[in-house]
Amino acid sequence: MDSYYTQYGIPREAARIPKRQTKGKARYARGKETKEVIAPQIIQDYRRLFVNRPAYTLQSARPHPETGRHYYFTPKKVGTGAPVELTESTIRRHLEGEITIGLYAINPANQRCKWLAIDADYQNAMEDLLKLQYRLTQDGVEPALELSRRGGHLWIFLARPLLAKDCRVYIHDIALRLGVAVKGWGLSEGIEVFPKHDSIEPSAFGSALRGPLGIHRAANRRFWFHGADYTVDAQIAYLNGFRKLTEHELEKLIAGKERLKLDNSPQERSTASGRRARTARLEFRILEYVAPLRKVGRNYVTRCPSCAELGHDRSGDNLAILIRDPRFYKCWAGCAKEMIRAALGCPTHMEIA
Ligand SMILES: [Zn+2]
Repeated sequence: MDSYYTQYGIPREAARIPKRQTKGKARYARGKETKEVIAPQIIQDYRRLFVNRPAYTLQSARPHPETGRHYYFTPKKVGTGAPVELTESTIRRHLEGEITIGLYAINPANQRCKWLAIDADYQNAMEDLLKLQYRLTQDGVEPALELSRRGGHLWIFLARPLLAKDCRVYIHDIALRLGVAVKGWGLSEGIEVFPKHDSIEPSAFGSALRGPLGIHRAANRRFWFHGADYTVDAQIAYLNGFRKLTEHELEKLIAGKERLKLDNSPQERSTASGRRARTARLEFRILEYVAPLRKVGRNYVTRCPSCAELGHDRSGDNLAILIRDPRFYKCWAGCAKEMIRAALGCPTHMEIA
């Protein structure tokens, strides 16, 4: 893994767990992150940069017993089931490493996002990210590179929230020109663009991405932005300095460019069950997210999105969905419901006190 980083001039240390931090306030125990004191201004800055709506997701502190993965859940209030809103205290706990939150790209009130992020997590991910970063810089866009386990995220900050569909046109066009694969149905490897939808319904969440500078529960460490010291203070100061893309600039960048059909927006699905689902939209309906390939007996059969993420189920028949009641579905390879929901960007709920 290190070779990807060093090959492109990223310091080897950036891809490693810092055993002991000498700068700033942070101190690290062996393999475990400890707390850094987070000033109120840092929380304000973080909110301004990353938080576009009150809804958020929470990464499970414990791995799933069957899969060992740490899924994201939508926190709901115990008793009422009302969604829990993101507060400054939640952001502070995230930055202190006590909890790990995921942030939604789109605010359904205006279909706009505050940032766009390109997620690349596959073998040659860093190569693609650096190609994209270089190309974006030529457009006058300044993306920040956050490292992850196998690749990273490029974050582009916006001066004011911009229409999700316009942001997607821009990134997809660039990826297409560079020959960078975009992950989608049937394509298991490639970049993922957040926002993942052109628009979402008023009650929908869309897709969330791990909030930067939190501790990844599975890796038990933070992933940092390349280019600043490894403290939350230094990283936020660094991010504050990035140029923010304006609406006028984006309009010029996408002028005359076509919208690619890479959208997963529910309203683009025209199945009968999709229409029915909109009348009961609080309920998860898998047919809004996957396209049934064929009918086999009492079921629709299609590629399991969770298997697909791992490059499996190429024959596209692992997921069976009961035609009579599509609330019931099953992956024959044994993917847990949480895995399928997470792969669809629609995590299951969890009640928190
Ligand atoms: Zn599966």
